[in-house]
Amino acid sequence: MDCLFCSIIKGDIPSTKVYEDETVYAFKDINPMAPVHVLIVPKKHLSSINDVTQENSGVIAHIYEVAAKLAKELGISESGYRVVSNCGADAGQTVFHLHFHLLGGKKLNVTMC
Ligand code: AMP
Ligand code: ZN
Repeated sequence: MDCLFCSIIKGDIPSTKVYEDETVYAFKDINPMAPVHVLIVPKKHLSSINDVTQENSGVIAHIYEVAAKLAKELGISESGYRVVSNCGADAGQTVFHLHFHLLGGKKLNVTMC
C-alpha cells in the first residue's frame, strides 16, 4: 500500500523525528501551524479514527501518554496545547494514516468548527 506516513515510519521518506517507541512514531509537521506542531502516529497502519476498535484502541491511550510526555519536554504542558485528529473529508483529513496533531506554543484559535 502506498502511504506517506508508512513511508516516513520506514525511513523511506525523511522526517524530523521527535519520539519513537515500539508502537508510536512522532515527527515535526512539514507545514507547522504553531511553534510546536508534532504529528503522533501509530506504527501500524490505521486509516483514521474510523479504524479504531476494541482490539487496537490501546495504541490511542498510548498516543495520549506520548502527547503528555512530549508536551512536557517541549515546554508547553503548563502554557497549554491541543491534540487533534481529523477524520474524513468534512474534517479536512489529507493523509489517510491515523495521526494526532500536537499543537502549542502560542494562544491557539478557540474555534472548534
Ligand atoms: P491532516 O490534514 O489532519 O490529514 O494532516 C496532515 C498533516 O500532515 C498536515 O498538517 C501536513 O502538513 C502534514 N504533512 C504532510 N506531508 C508531510 C511530511 N512529508 N512530513 C511531515 N508532515 C507532513
Ligand atoms: Zn500508513
